[in-house]
Amino acid sequence: MARGRLSGAVAGALAGARAQREETAIDFALSELQQSLGGAIEKICAGFGDDYWLERDHDGKFPEAFHRALAADGWLGVCIPQAYGGSGLGISEAAIMMQTIAASGAGFSGASAVHMNIFGLNPVVVYGSDAQKRRMLPPIVSGAEKACFAVTEPNAGLETAKLATRAERRGDRYVINGAKIWISTAQVADKMLILTRTTASENARKPTDGLTLFYTALDRRFVEVREIEKMGRKAVDSNQVFIDALEVPVEDRIGEEGRGFDYILDGFNPERILIAAEAIGLGHAALKRATAYAKERVVFGRPIGQNQAIQHPLAQCWMELEAAELVTLKAAWQYDQGVACGPAANTAKYLAAEAGFKACQAAIMTHGGYGYAKEYHVERYLRESMIPRIAPVTPHLILCFIAERVLGLPKSY
Ligand SMILES: Cc1cc2nc3c(=O)[nH]c(=O)nc-3n(C[C@H](O)[C@H](O)[C@H](O)COP(=O)(O)OP(=O)(O)OC[C@H]3O[C@@H](n4cnc5c(N)ncnc54)[C@H](O)[C@@H]3O)c2cc1C
Repeated sequence: MARGRLSGAVAGALAGARAQREETAIDFALSELQQSLGGAIEKICAGFGDDYWLERDHDGKFPEAFHRALAADGWLGVCIPQAYGGSGLGISEAAIMMQTIAASGAGFSGASAVHMNIFGLNPVVVYGSDAQKRRMLPPIVSGAEKACFAVTEPNAGLETAKLATRAERRGDRYVINGAKIWISTAQVADKMLILTRTTASENARKPTDGLTLFYTALDRRFVEVREIEKMGRKAVDSNQVFIDALEVPVEDRIGEEGRGFDYILDGFNPERILIAAEAIGLGHAALKRATAYAKERVVFGRPIGQNQAIQHPLAQCWMELEAAELVTLKAAWQYDQGVACGPAANTAKYLAAEAGFKACQAAIMTHGGYGYAKEYHVERYLRESMIPRIAPVTPHLILCFIAERVLGLPKSY
């Protein structure tokens, strides 16, 4: 009797759990839409093979044809609301798109060429007025305009609150003076999203107050852009930017004066998620080349890939990329569901950048001397794999974030 009752209770609980599971089950499968999106991006990328990217790495020219091909099929507006010409999809779909681009062999040369399109204008989407969105977003979606993101400054570094580029209000305009550094795509950009100081930090309530955000024309009569010779990703320029009395109409201010830091903070987590996806894509590109080479290169009478010393590092890299991908998709899902995603987004960016870097290193070692030759592409990947480690935030600062915000340890900086 007791047994019967127990069984009934268990059956009831199980039925309830099953019903609930249908609603809340953890589902690791990509949706049909996500799968077809990946396929469509792969198809576009197939038109831009290794030689295209090798040439861009050599001549440093912006990959215009690639940018145009993505724009032509509407992909540059993947996260921009449909009302402004975009597709209105989530950060999960954008992450799949960016991972696919990097994994095609385009690496960061391809991903960074469109990265700003994907989430850079989020502050405009969230805090801009309807008139601003109608004016600013469609040209970005169509590819008619390119934008850069100007935050980092030579004397502030990671301490954004210390930034000193000033914007002074004069009637219906602001006048901007100052200098930025490491600003990607400023050579080809028509517009810039720029963070400035409008209230001196000593007069602000807290150091991050008094910063104001503008989306405005990069008017080269008042803005000098000097390219930085750098280690990799030559096709996508990074620059010193000197701003001398740039007049900006008040209509180009995004949101309220003094609240710019809060606005860009909103975009930090999605950007970390996208960078993570790009690093994973690059790692897979490296792993694919390494695996193919390990199968075909014969030394001591057998393919080098038959040796465990070659196999094991590659297998380990695959597992680490897989783990990083899981947490990246988790972070993307959380963001799209409106769930706090700071710990997952930071973890994703940290793990993915390290896993991508390690896969690129392993790819070179698998190729032996040939890994050092440009013709085999993996040395280019290794140079590019340093970017997601450093930008937009370094591994040290991510560890500080996790220590403080997740583990509750005292703030160390
Ligand atoms: C290729 C590339 C493209 C970029 N594109 C852009 C762009 O488009 N727009 C833009 O605004 N910026 C861009 N950046 C800038 C990038 O976001 C910064 O380089 C990055 O945020 C690090 O800042 P920093 O270089 O000034 O380092 P610093 O702040 O000078 O730090 C130097 C080192 O010290 C460490 N450090 C500092 N303080 C601490 C602490 N308290 N504890 C532990 N370690 C610490 C850091 O982790 C780092 O390793 C780009 C950078 C690169 C390399």
